[in-house]
Amino acid sequence: MATGLIFSETFLYHNSNPLIPHYENSDRLIACMNLLQKSKYYSLLRKPEIKDISSDLIKQIHSEDHLQKIENSKGKRGYFDSDTPFTEKSWISAFKAASSGLTMVDALLEGKIKNGFSLLRPPGHHAERDRIMGFCILNNIAVATKYLQIKGFKKVFILDWDVHHGNGTQEIFYEDPSVFYLSIHQFPFYPMTGLSTEIGEGIGIGTTKNIPLQANTENFKYIEIFKNSVVPTIEKFNPEVILISAGFDAHKKDPLGGMKITTEGFEKLTRIVLECAKHVCQGRVLSFLEGGYDIPSLSESVEAHVAVLNSFS
Ligand SMILES: [Zn+2]
Repeated sequence: MATGLIFSETFLYHNSNPLIPHYENSDRLIACMNLLQKSKYYSLLRKPEIKDISSDLIKQIHSEDHLQKIENSKGKRGYFDSDTPFTEKSWISAFKAASSGLTMVDALLEGKIKNGFSLLRPPGHHAERDRIMGFCILNNIAVATKYLQIKGFKKVFILDWDVHHGNGTQEIFYEDPSVFYLSIHQFPFYPMTGLSTEIGEGIGIGTTKNIPLQANTENFKYIEIFKNSVVPTIEKFNPEVILISAGFDAHKKDPLGGMKITTEGFEKLTRIVLECAKHVCQGRVLSFLEGGYDIPSLSESVEAHVAVLNSFS
């Protein structure tokens, strides 16, 4: 089988105005695509056309008010919050990014791919049910999870290794015992959530796990935690599919993050998760880009990540 790669020119529409410089800009994806296209496995990747998402599906994750804010941004420039600007066509990028997951899930169910990576923007894991924040408009991985549930998946594991805590994804599934949310992130750090005491609520207690780490954590520590804590947690939950919120802003060269993972480190972390997925969920792993703001390190890390996905497909 194959590895899926989702990319769309529409992802470049968001914040395309050079008068509004921003770390989260379209050059990030262009650099990743340039590098992927040079890889020897690029022609082997399946590249499904992104489907259109129904507003009914998005409404199962986000509030009417949230969608209205996006509706009101059409054709305009402004800010959703202090660090989340929008331009005239940002809403198109946001909806297409949120459609990536369902496109990937359909390809998985049709047997066309075994795993996949969505090279998308804007990222999603800070977007809460009713709040646009932290560069994130719609919660892409949450929409994908909801779609998997609609398609009959009973247990979904979300692993979030972005340097920031995915407050939005955690909030959305905090009381859902069928979705395990595990985040490993720098703390104290934006958005200041993700303490180890945050473990879920109600019937969801025990299916949220936070691993806050001090700044300057290096590869070996991440690898140790992945082997001794992340993998056993996945094995115990025994999901049918693993989703990754793959941010690469814990890279040592990232201008926003304060961690010390290298490109080789991300390659190793990907391999650990794929080895685990092989015996837990028949290798089903769908990964979604989140952060990563040093463009050379981001593109190299994304290429290393996709190369491992491809080697397991
Ligand atoms: Zn981040």
